Amino acid sequence: MPKTKPALYRPTSANLTRLANHLRRGGIVGVPSETVYGLAANALDASACARIFEAKGRPANDPLIVHLSRAAELHQVAITNPSADLLANAFWPGPLTLVLPKNKCVPDIVTSGRDTVAVRVPAHPLFRRLIRTCGFPLAAPSANPFGYISPTSAAHVRDSLGNTELRAILDGGDCTIGVESTIIDLSEPSRPRLLRPGGLAQEKIEAVLKQKILTAPAPKKQSSESAAPAPGMLPQHYSPHTPVKLHPSLAGDSIPQIPTNEAVLLLRRPNDKRLRKPNVFWLSPSGQLSVIAHNLFNQLRQLDQGAW
Ligand code: AMP
Ligand code: MG
Repeated sequence: MPKTKPALYRPTSANLTRLANHLRRGGIVGVPSETVYGLAANALDASACARIFEAKGRPANDPLIVHLSRAAELHQVAITNPSADLLANAFWPGPLTLVLPKNKCVPDIVTSGRDTVAVRVPAHPLFRRLIRTCGFPLAAPSANPFGYISPTSAAHVRDSLGNTELRAILDGGDCTIGVESTIIDLSEPSRPRLLRPGGLAQEKIEAVLKQKILTAPAPKKQSSESAAPAPGMLPQHYSPHTPVKLHPSLAGDSIPQIPTNEAVLLLRRPNDKRLRKPNVFWLSPSGQLSVIAHNLFNQLRQLDQGAW
């Protein structure tokens, strides 16, 4: 029998206590963050974390990010180093995840058996309040079925994880950043590596470290998970059900030839008013990257529903 959709909880103190109790008992909760919505469980409870993998259909070899309420808690889950402390000081709370050697208390399921753990302090005040109310860190990947477009609102989570064990979502409004965190591997502090580009620009991190960051090669088309540059960095991800074609550039005069059962999603509003047609959409008025990021996943979801 299909399950009913999960309920949205308004951010009252009573609801935060209720959700924290559910997490303490090993349950899973949809949580708001400034990047994308997360699917959270007690990061120190292996069977609670197993429920995240189950609900998302996420493969066990794709590790989770552990979320803390304050940078001062970092030593509880990871072995820190001066570069990590520098970045934590500069960018936490915020859209930066650090990969560091893990402490014993972090269960293997969280790190997919690796001896490193990914850690972040989110900027969303409600997410941090929930972690404080819990009194334990929360493991949380994005709250979408594995491989599908990430959620940037509570309604996205309710609509795409409705048929799972998830019963409760903390509604914290729309995500301000709208794309995932930037992940830096600092397990070898002298060789910082960018594992995933995201909401914090690489240049800003390099300016604080006063050092260039090595970038992992992009995943190859046919590569298997074991050959990927970092776990979870698969050739296909954040994918709508509708096929998507990426055009490095698109000449304005080719847009009118796009069939009406296809849509065009541009980075910026076209200056030529004749190109503003019912199947032509854009992510920003003037091409500002933060606005494009903020709108990207929501627009892809709407187009995936054939909304034109
Ligand atoms: P998300 O699904 O957005 O929560 O991101 C989780 C991603 O963080 C994974 O797919 C990996 O790419 C990365 N990650 C998590 N833990 C580790 C780790 N120990 N080492 C390297 N990458 C990690
Ligand atoms: Mg994800």
